[in-house]
Amino acid sequence: MSSVIPTISFKIVVLGESAVGKTSVLNRYATNKFYQKIEPTIGSTNFQKTINQLDYKIKLLIWDTAGQERFHSLAQMYYRGAKGALVIYDVQNVDSFERAKEWVEELRKQGDPNVQIALVANKIDLPDHMVDKNEAIKYAKENQLLFKETSAKTGEGVTEAFISLAKSIPLEI
Ligand code: GDP
Ligand code: MG
Repeated sequence: MSSVIPTISFKIVVLGESAVGKTSVLNRYATNKFYQKIEPTIGSTNFQKTINQLDYKIKLLIWDTAGQERFHSLAQMYYRGAKGALVIYDVQNVDSFERAKEWVEELRKQGDPNVQIALVANKIDLPDHMVDKNEAIKYAKENQLLFKETSAKTGEGVTEAFISLAKSIPLEI
C-alpha cells in the first residue's frame, strides 16, 4: 500500500537593496553555507526547497536576483506568480530599510494582489543595529507583513523565516 503525499509549489522572490544579504540568506537556507565575499551578480540561481508538513509538502521555488536591484528595477517576470516574498534589509543600514519599504510598495503594485511578504532584518550577528527594531515591527504590522530577524552568517532565524512565510501563504488563492 502506498499513499501519495500532495505537493504544492510556491514561487518565492527575494527583494532588497544591493548587499543586504539576499543571496547569502538564500545560500544559508538552501545549502547551509555562508561566504564572506560574493560577487553581487552571483545569484539569479533559482533554488528549490521542500518543506514537509504532516499531510502535504510545500515546494518552494526561490528566485534570486542577478544584481539588477542596483538599478532599482526588476523585470515584471520576476514578480509574476510569486506567492511570497522576503524583503530584506541590513540592520546596520538605515537606507536599506527605507529601500525595503519601497520594495514592499513596488511588490504590492506589480505583484500578485495576495502576495505574502516577510520583512527581514538581516545581519543581526553584527553590532550597532542602526535600524530601530520597534519602528520596523510597527511598519510590518501596519502593512500586514511578517517580521523576521536573521543572520545568514550564523544561520539564526533563516529557516524559520522561510517556513513562516511558506505557512502564511493561503493554500488556494
Ligand atoms: P545581496 O547583494 O543582497 O545578494 O547581498 P550578498 O548576499 O551578496 O551579501 C553582501 C555582503 O554581506 C557579503 O559580503 C556577505 O558575506 C555579507 N553578509 C550577508 N549576510 C550577512 C549576515 O547575516 N551577517 C554578516 N556579518 N554579513 C553578511
Ligand atoms: Mg545577490
